[in-house]
Amino acid sequence: MTSERPEFWNYCAHCGAELGLDDWPPVVELVHDIDDHSIYSFCDDGCKAAWNRSE
Ligand SMILES: [Zn+2]
Repeated sequence: MTSERPEFWNYCAHCGAELGLDDWPPVVELVHDIDDHSIYSFCDDGCKAAWNRSE
């Protein structure tokens, strides 16, 4: 079984824009909490910054 990209990587975590299926997400943020590791994809640095501000 090949490893498929997680579904949540197909969309920008901030604006919800669909990202190219053939490309690695332009911006990927890994959030390491005490007992949880989350990965978010963003369409560009602006969305990543906006998402960080909204937290
Ligand atoms: Zn976006």
